[in-house]
Amino acid sequence: MSIADTYRRLRSEIPRHVTIVVAAKTRSVPEMLEVIEAGATDIGHNYVQEAEQARAALGPAAGRVRWHLIGHLQTNKINKALQVFDVIQTVDSLDTARAIDKRAAVLGLVVPVYIEINSAVEASKSGVVPELEAVIALARGVCALKHVRLEGLMTMGPLNGDDDQVRAAFRKTHCLFERLRELELSGAHLHTLSMGMTDSYRSAIEEGATMVRPGTIVFGPR
Ligand SMILES: *Cc1c(COP(=O)(O)O)cnc(C)c1O
Repeated sequence: MSIADTYRRLRSEIPRHVTIVVAAKTRSVPEMLEVIEAGATDIGHNYVQEAEQARAALGPAAGRVRWHLIGHLQTNKINKALQVFDVIQTVDSLDTARAIDKRAAVLGLVVPVYIEINSAVEASKSGVVPELEAVIALARGVCALKHVRLEGLMTMGPLNGDDDQVRAAFRKTHCLFERLRELELSGAHLHTLSMGMTDSYRSAIEEGATMVRPGTIVFGPR
C-alpha cells in the first residue's frame, strides 16, 4: 500500500478525537509531501536542522500542517526550533522552558509546549520523573512564563517493554495528566496527552492518549 493509502486507512481506524502526529525523522521530502497531500494535519520531527531543511524543500505544503518537535531540544537550537516548529513536545526542565520563553518573547510568540514524562524511568532517556510533585512543580513554573503555554504531556514509554510495561507507563502518564488538569492551573490549557508510536499507539489510545505519533506504520521501516 502507498504511504497515502496507509495514512488514510490509519486515520479512518483511529478515533476522531485522537490527533495523529506523523513522525517523519529520516524520511525524504517526497515521502513527507505524500503524507501531507493524503491529509496529514501534524508532522513530528526529532531534529531541528533536518526539519528546517524539509520545510524549506516542501514549500507551501509545509504550511498546511502543524510541526511538532518530538526530539530532545538543545539550548543552542531553540531560536531555530521556534522558527521551524509550532509545538515543542519535549520540555523536561524549567531551565529549558525559561530559555524557550526568553527567545519566544523576542520573536513575539506564545509557544505551545508539552512536558515530557520519563514514564519508564529509564536513565538514558529524557523527561521528568513520573512523580506528581515533580510534575506539578515544573508545570507551575511553566505556567508562570508568559511566552510559553502548557498544553499537554508527552511520553515515550519503555523502548523494549512488553505490552504490560508499556501500558503501565501510559497509565501512569494518564494519571499525572488527570491530576494536573484537576489543579486548573492558571495559564494552562491542558488538553493533549501525546503517547504511542507504531508498536504502541493502540494501547496508548486505550490508555487515554489524545495524540499518537506513528512513523514506521505510515512510511515503512527506517
Ligand atoms: C521515532 C519516534 C516516533 C515514531 O516511532 P515509530 O516506531 O517509527 O512509529 C514517535 N515518537 C518519537 C518521540 C520518536 O522519536
